[in-house]
Amino acid sequence: MAMDEKFHIGECPICRQGRLLLFRNLESGDIYGHCEECEQGFLTPDELEERTGFLTLASDDDADWATEEQISRSVWANYKVWRVTS
Ligand SMILES: [Zn+2]
Repeated sequence: MAMDEKFHIGECPICRQGRLLLFRNLESGDIYGHCEECEQGFLTPDELEERTGFLTLASDDDADWATEEQISRSVWANYKVWRVTS
């Protein structure tokens, strides 16, 4: 798999400016959506739909881009996922 494969799950419902980039927390293994603009994070589709998230500033050091395989085994498996192209 190419190292530059990155994925997002669409527009952030909080700021409507950034995309929600999918990262994997290296300690917990959780796959979460991280807004590139307002730093809001969402652990599950339910959190996203209810707009209840968390600030990701503290957890970013321990996260990496989520891979396609990791996403397919996560709570986001049935969610619409796009490839980050820029
Ligand atoms: Zn946002």
